[in-house]
Amino acid sequence: MVSFTGLSGFKWTVANGFRTNPGQTCPPVDNSHISNILLFTTNSLLVPRKLLAVRKFFIAGNWKMNLLRDSSVALVHQLMDQLHSSGNVDVAVCPPSVYLHDVGAALRGSVIHLGAQNVYHAAEGAFTGEISCAMLRDLGCKYVILGHSERRAIFGETDADVNTKLQAVLKAGLTPIVCIGETLAQREAGSTQTVVRGQCTHSLAGLTSDQMAKTVLAYEPVWAIGTGKTATPAQAEEVHADIRELLKGLFDASVANSVVIQYGGSVKADNANELLSQPNIDGALVGGASLKSESFLPIVQAAMKIKK
Ligand code: PEP
Repeated sequence: MVSFTGLSGFKWTVANGFRTNPGQTCPPVDNSHISNILLFTTNSLLVPRKLLAVRKFFIAGNWKMNLLRDSSVALVHQLMDQLHSSGNVDVAVCPPSVYLHDVGAALRGSVIHLGAQNVYHAAEGAFTGEISCAMLRDLGCKYVILGHSERRAIFGETDADVNTKLQAVLKAGLTPIVCIGETLAQREAGSTQTVVRGQCTHSLAGLTSDQMAKTVLAYEPVWAIGTGKTATPAQAEEVHADIRELLKGLFDASVANSVVIQYGGSVKADNANELLSQPNIDGALVGGASLKSESFLPIVQAAMKIKK
């Protein structure tokens, strides 16, 4: 715990191990989740934004429907051989559900967490082909991706579906990664802000502040996914900052400043540093480049080097 005197002589106390102000970074501890954050003042007044920027980087690989069992386990071994510690960066891989068991077993004891790509909201029952939150927990999952643009576009998932799943995921103690993002046509029509704000508002409806602080968002412009086209750092930052502004209105400033917002869309070793250096970009959801250790690890390493 670190105490210091801030603006106007107020005394601040900040929990160890989080990115705070330049010069205020404390020794890392096991911050398994941002909800562990303790940040308070002896006088409650305006909170300088920088002092609330306590988010850990989070890099997750979405393997989608790629790799078979042997190649999945081999990839995990390559990642583990080269990533003994991840510093103040959370790292996860999200393999296809049929390989969660094998990948989870291979990851045991490593710094890399396990995530799923989808889930069904019901606890159990006659839902042929579906997988419940309890099953994911049973397999050792920590994260679940929800509302990926491919699920929205190909499988017809709506914001209401995402919201139903989100409630179930949070209730089960899993960490959701909720994806939002506009299509090329929506961007060209100038409706990016309306679309992204609408997706956030409806997907996150009914969440308590505590639940929101435990939810990861991934801004993924659809036109940048798997296309090799990346949003420029300025384009991505503009949307991330606007999402945080929206969260301030829907919840409050401290929740807005706590939520981890990843960027996704053709993130690669050569653009990771610039994207991740933006003030409101807290990590990456990586598709294609997560399928090989030589393209995924440099993204993790880029995040490890950045001090905000
Ligand atoms: C994704 O699928 O979430 C993604 C961002 O893919 P890619 O990195 O391949 O664009």
